[in-house]
Amino acid sequence: MKALTWHGKGDMRCESVPDPKIEHGRDAIIKVTACAICGSDLHIFDGIIPSMEHGDIIGHETMGEVVEVGSQNKALKVGDRVVVPFTIACGECFFCQKGYYSGCERSNPNKAKAAKLWGNSPSGLFGYSHLLGGYSGGQAEFLRVPYADVGPIKVPNHLSDEQVLFLSDIFPTGYMAADFCNIQKGDTIAIWGCGPVGQMAIRSAFLLGADRVIAIDTVPERLALAKESGAQTLDFRDEDIYDRIMELTNGRGADACIDAVGTEPDTMASFDSIVDRIKVATFMGTDRPHVLRQAIHCCRNFGTVSIVGVYGGFVDKIPMGSAINRGLTFRMAQTPVQHYLPLLLDRIEKGEIDPSFVITHRATLEEGPEFYKTFRDKKDGCIKVVLKPN
Ligand code: NAD
Ligand code: ZN
Ligand code: ZN
Repeated sequence: MKALTWHGKGDMRCESVPDPKIEHGRDAIIKVTACAICGSDLHIFDGIIPSMEHGDIIGHETMGEVVEVGSQNKALKVGDRVVVPFTIACGECFFCQKGYYSGCERSNPNKAKAAKLWGNSPSGLFGYSHLLGGYSGGQAEFLRVPYADVGPIKVPNHLSDEQVLFLSDIFPTGYMAADFCNIQKGDTIAIWGCGPVGQMAIRSAFLLGADRVIAIDTVPERLALAKESGAQTLDFRDEDIYDRIMELTNGRGADACIDAVGTEPDTMASFDSIVDRIKVATFMGTDRPHVLRQAIHCCRNFGTVSIVGVYGGFVDKIPMGSAINRGLTFRMAQTPVQHYLPLLLDRIEKGEIDPSFVITHRATLEEGPEFYKTFRDKKDGCIKVVLKPN
């Protein structure tokens, strides 16, 4: 089959690789009908995710048709149309039972290695390094789905691929970001980043009852789309974000602040040694504001800072004094996608949201490497790329 494979910083290729096979009774094989490139894939593309190997298949936003099921899998049958969550979870362990699927303690076979870095291990992820299980990803013609009797959700035929594909990641992620904010009537939510995740967070904040959303970015097309969703927008290159947010909130700050940016690619990617990266992460000697620090400063007393942007390495110099003196709550996670799926599929079915509004580009798998660049460089108004392998 054909698949997108990683060969080093900035080097994605579309190659012929062996077809995946059932390896365990609970597995399923999916013929991929649509998959997307995520901002998290850009961290791999930018070379800042450790434990990648040449030839690794990337991709974790995937859906398609079931073409084979393992002998123990009673949940799926050949022909089912499913969306696959990016988090791989067993459904039975201590964490899965509590709904914390992205903390599954069984799905990462390399958890000892991950624990050395993080103290313990999150769940395995598709196409996201050997630290997180070394699973092949879904930017491919076919995908092996482990624990396929727990993860994939069946989708009805009257909804198109593009309407449901983002249940795999960015819709639950943006929704969780807003959910973490415990939104009350009259609340103002400030959101850093108007990429695909930020866009989902804006719509979700309104779905959950926010009175006002202030969205921050600098890319004109992304700010325009945020405005279309009803957000008030600020360009961080033109305005002092802290001053403007204070001005807009009677000097109090936003009720909650969402970081939908994470590791800022151009602050980290151009540094080759880990020492340089730590230096940059520590002192932020760049012309960009440091999102997390700004989100903390702009949050009102006893407000919430909700972090869904992904961070690599050590992000230091966090103003803990500001957070503790003012009673801030921090919430953050890799999204336990499975937990949100039934609720969000229901919201799509009821017509409360059509997540396909972020799609700007569609391409073949062969064109994938080119579109990684288009997405990273935000060329041609690119906000979200969908690839159609079959
Ligand atoms: P993206 O790279 O397309 O979007 C990031 C946006 O942030 C860009 O539009 C960029 O212009 C903007 N930005 C950069 N610096 C900024 C600043 N100082 N202030 C305001 N905006 C700034 O990525 P995406 O697909 O939207 O993903 C966003 C983040 O969410 C990534 O870090 C990704 O890894 C992460 N993510 C996390 C999860 C999770 O489970 N927690 C899931 C999916 C994605
Ligand atoms: Zn993702
Ligand atoms: Zn589990």
